[in-house]
Amino acid sequence: PASAAAAADPAAGAAVKAADRAHVFHSWSAQGLIDPPAIAGAEGSYFWDYDGNRYLDFSSQLVNTNIGHQHPKVVAAIQEQAAKLCTLAPGFAVDVRSEAARLIAERTPGDLDKIFFTNGGAEAVENAVRMARLHTGRPKVLSAYRSYHGATAAAINLTGDPRRWPSDTASAGVVHFWGPFRYRSPFHAENEAQECERALAHLEQTIAFEGPQTIAAIILETVPGTAGIMVPPAGYLAGVREICDRHGIVFILDEVMAGFGRTGRWFAAEHFGVTPDLLTFAKGVNSGYVPLGGVAISAEIAATFDQRPYPGGLTYSGHPLACASAVATINAMAEERIVENADRIGETVIGPALREIAGRHPSVGEVRGMGVFWAVELVKDQETREPLVPYNASGAANAPMGEFAAACKRAGLWPFVNMNRTHVVPPCTVTEAEAKEGLAALDDALTAADAHTTGA
Ligand code: PMP
Repeated sequence: PASAAAAADPAAGAAVKAADRAHVFHSWSAQGLIDPPAIAGAEGSYFWDYDGNRYLDFSSQLVNTNIGHQHPKVVAAIQEQAAKLCTLAPGFAVDVRSEAARLIAERTPGDLDKIFFTNGGAEAVENAVRMARLHTGRPKVLSAYRSYHGATAAAINLTGDPRRWPSDTASAGVVHFWGPFRYRSPFHAENEAQECERALAHLEQTIAFEGPQTIAAIILETVPGTAGIMVPPAGYLAGVREICDRHGIVFILDEVMAGFGRTGRWFAAEHFGVTPDLLTFAKGVNSGYVPLGGVAISAEIAATFDQRPYPGGLTYSGHPLACASAVATINAMAEERIVENADRIGETVIGPALREIAGRHPSVGEVRGMGVFWAVELVKDQETREPLVPYNASGAANAPMGEFAAACKRAGLWPFVNMNRTHVVPPCTVTEAEAKEGLAALDDALTAADAHTTGA
């Protein structure tokens, strides 16, 4: 884009960095060991720094900007709403809030027709769990080890990601189990059908030993994202749905990352023909232009709170600026067929290219995904599948992934790297040419990873 050619201004960048270093306390980081790049602007699939380096965004800013950076219709909607009405407490009916809820409910599967708004994913998960506990009168919640559900009190307990460990002092009724993931299966399955069957049997057994009458909810990411973009085998989610029904357990699907076009559908649940009782969303609902998340609620659970109050709320629930940006985002995604674009680019460009790349690089153990939601898993040895870096490795132990990321950045590609994987998660608006440009840079950068493998 033209604005990407904006003149470099290293002095301004240095000032931004100095103030950041002095006063900003960053997420998930040892404050003294980081050097956050100073970013000057962004447009479409690109962002750029003050030194004149432009990056193709294969991260979508934590898998968030599904509609790309600075979509003009969304920017205009925020500006118009700001001029009209910036804020109003949740207790009022507001045009943009009603319209956002209607547009979301229209797209969620089944009878998930009531929307509780939050400021992001973790708050959505917190409230979904609270609804499930109040609806069932039961205390426990089951979640997968390979999962990420957020970093607030209950959400971090549900999360299986090792970032849970330092905060996991009070599990508050959370029990973890293994979901299906054939590449690193604890079930030693020989095929997808067997993986599905054994994962469901394992879940049944977990429920039996925990006591079905003590379990309020099972929460799963429809396609687990942060933990490695593991598309579940056919029948798994339908099997979980059936287990939940049989035991009176609330089924929560977390679509904070997988929702709003990421998998090539409005919601990933569509791929599997499954309707949960509660569905959490955030990120793609408005591409994070203004913080927004929420819970889509089934008719049955909504009825629980029809004549008795729901004991939960947030000052910014359904914030007008956030809702205006959601309305504009959803309408633009529909008008510009952005969900269809994500599906097509995934099927015809990213998927085939990654499979071809995997065949040439000894460091690539597996590629998997759908839509614009792909993972490339790097290994030391394709036979043993030993991860390129140990589980949860950081610092020097994770140097090979750092080298890979640095090689991407030198080539103008901003990757999403987590443990021994790189995730290919560009905006849903990514063009064929952009996807190819990024995949070529990724292909070259994998040579840095190959040097650490037995096949090199
Ligand atoms: N659930 C899932 C599936 C997520 O991917 C995330 C964020 N990556 C969250 C919940 C938490 O969302 P937030 O960071 O907005 O609280």
